[in-house]
Amino acid sequence: MYADVIVDISHESLDRVFLYRIPDEILPDVAIGSPVKFPFGKGNRVTEGYVVDILSTSDYPEDKIKYLIGLRDGAVSIESQLINLAAWMKNTYGSTMIQALKTVIPIKNEVRHKEDKTIILNCDDKKAEEFLKLCISKKYKAKERLLAELIKEKSLPYELVTQKLNISQSTLKSLESDNIIVVRADIKYRNPADEKAVSDTGFGRPYDVKNLTKSQQEVADSIMADYIDGATKPSLIHGVTGSGKTEVYMELVSKMQMLGKQSIVLIPEIALTYQTIIRFYKRFGDRVSIIHSRMSQGEKYDQFERAKKGEIDIMIGPRSALFTPFADIGLIIIDEEHEATYKSETTPKYHAREVAFERARVSDGIVVLGSATPSMESYYNASCGNYNLYSLAERIGTSTLPEVTVVDLREELKVGNRSMFSANLREAIQERLDRKEQTMLFINRRGYAGFVSCRSCGEAIKCPHCDVSLTYHNNKRLICHYCNYNIPMPDKCPKCASKFIGTFGTGTQKLEEATISAFPGARVLRMDMDTTSGKDGHEKILSAFANHEADILIGTQMIVKGHDFSNVTLVGIIAADMSLFENDYRSAERTFQLLTQAAGRAGRGDKPGQVIIQTYKPEHYAIQAASAQDYEEFYETELSYRRLVNYPPYLHMLVIFISSPSIAECGTMAEILAKTVQDYGDYTVIGPAEATIAKKQDRYRKVIWCKHADVNALKELMNALEAVIKNNTELKNCNVQFDLDPMSMY
Ligand code: ADP
Ligand code: ZN
Ligand code: ZN
Repeated sequence: MYADVIVDISHESLDRVFLYRIPDEILPDVAIGSPVKFPFGKGNRVTEGYVVDILSTSDYPEDKIKYLIGLRDGAVSIESQLINLAAWMKNTYGSTMIQALKTVIPIKNEVRHKEDKTIILNCDDKKAEEFLKLCISKKYKAKERLLAELIKEKSLPYELVTQKLNISQSTLKSLESDNIIVVRADIKYRNPADEKAVSDTGFGRPYDVKNLTKSQQEVADSIMADYIDGATKPSLIHGVTGSGKTEVYMELVSKMQMLGKQSIVLIPEIALTYQTIIRFYKRFGDRVSIIHSRMSQGEKYDQFERAKKGEIDIMIGPRSALFTPFADIGLIIIDEEHEATYKSETTPKYHAREVAFERARVSDGIVVLGSATPSMESYYNASCGNYNLYSLAERIGTSTLPEVTVVDLREELKVGNRSMFSANLREAIQERLDRKEQTMLFINRRGYAGFVSCRSCGEAIKCPHCDVSLTYHNNKRLICHYCNYNIPMPDKCPKCASKFIGTFGTGTQKLEEATISAFPGARVLRMDMDTTSGKDGHEKILSAFANHEADILIGTQMIVKGHDFSNVTLVGIIAADMSLFENDYRSAERTFQLLTQAAGRAGRGDKPGQVIIQTYKPEHYAIQAASAQDYEEFYETELSYRRLVNYPPYLHMLVIFISSPSIAECGTMAEILAKTVQDYGDYTVIGPAEATIAKKQDRYRKVIWCKHADVNALKELMNALEAVIKNNTELKNCNVQFDLDPMSMY
């Protein structure tokens, strides 16, 4: 047997694995993740590393392969845990070990740490006094200033000395060489959360820990009791927005802290859940850290180092926070567990929920999922008894769920209203303006408007590299959202030269313009990809809105999540249908979630809220259930559809996604793989078919869908397919990716 080992567990060296033979004596004890010793390099220096793979064959001549020396002693290290997790991800999601390791191991690059420098008096007072006298007599003004201060304080912050006391570097050097002072440098690991928290919200002020309500306390107690008993079943908290889930999370985290265990709290996107982070920060102080997507690799690495050193017990972040090198995890929370961002879009295409289960399993920790609109998968698992189900059905305090009205846009059209606002919504907005209350208007599209098409020949203008329509932006250019190809807006149809070309669909910019003209004098803010590109883009817009610097906030998906604006009493959904007609078995689920979350924004304060949903399809069950705010009803209806068409959660689905610059190669590979699946076992196979976007960035794309009730059967299938792909060397330009239980149909 052979072992692949890595010498240095850092991101750059993960590609460099070395092959060793495993001596028979230690074979039973060697596993993926084992810390081992081996002779390395020309001089056969004894070197330490980790096993990342175990193989039964090798391509090298036997006599060229050295033997491992043995295992290193010591407890299972965090490195071993993470390498094991990578191996699990490789097998579950179909990637190479190196891809999996790179996902799990943080990038360590040379970062210049901010240093905290201090100047310390390095002699006794008597000598210092003498030196001070000398300075006075010689008129060394700078030295005199510093010494007088140091005799009083003994040590001073470097910045204060150089800036406030105006002491030069050379003066300090000279004092240092006379042994009067020393300069001590402490590495300061950046903590991105606390700087912000300090400046914004008076961190340091103690968090007023809430007395949990009876139902909150019951949920927290029951989860903790299970944990203490050693039960490891995950829990799902189904709680409407504002029902106090976050308080329950904090209670659990605090209990874990008392037990000396660490917690990971996953949230969909930091910028959008800023208020939640501040709450954790205020309660747990600098025992919490965060990571987020806009942090540099160095900053992330710092936070992981702090975790490894035991400086923190709580990490908050997006799915990559799962790989925080905590040694003894007690709890992993996944808030808004239905969110699509928990699924990785790059190989290994892992889902945070499943990785969380695996990560928790190793240290006997527990996983808690929370959502107002649980994913079909999770609710299904809960109803099958695989998860514990808790429900928090009521909002905390006096705030009640809003009243929801559905407006049929077809009727509006019949009476000649072609504007974006139904009579109903227009009136409701005006009322809010009169009462000095705020409104949020939601639309789920970006850009100025949709695609451009020709009314004569019916063709849409498409990107020549990607099989998608170009999107019109109001700088009068057409842009491809996949490859950034862009051209000026043509004045006639490129196909038939007709002049009757124009834009269709609606975007945030168009909505903004329509709002300004419908409500002159109203102060309008817009939040979308374009207005939030700056570093604190989201926060600026949200805090401006929170401070009532605007009456109406217009936005995409971004505005529907997580914020508490107590003065928002109206939420308008401009076109609820947009997400309903995506060619995807999850589109109804996604629509229901979006509508419910959007509705949850209204009436978070003591004033009652109202929600108006505009739609061309008021009879659709997703819209009906959202307007009744009835999760169960949606779930039951959706589940019966999924059963009818055999989709998850009833079955597991594997997408095989093939792309190549050559259309022929792409087709051949797809045929070979589809045949392999058919021959391999009793899988349901659909395709090969063209992907929704049949060509992107000059690559042709095909998809095969495979279904099976047993997820392990799909894992096995992936292994078989990998072998086939490896053997088809002549199709080397093909790229094949796997996606287990995908978030889209490709
Ligand atoms: P969720 O996470 O379910 O949306 P939160 O935990 O954010 O709910 O709670 C909603 C609001 O109610 C917050 O402002 C929170 O501070 C407050 N809250 C939650 N639990 C309590 C409690 N037990 N007592 C008083 N206020 C509470
Ligand atoms: Zn045309
Ligand atoms: Zn393109």
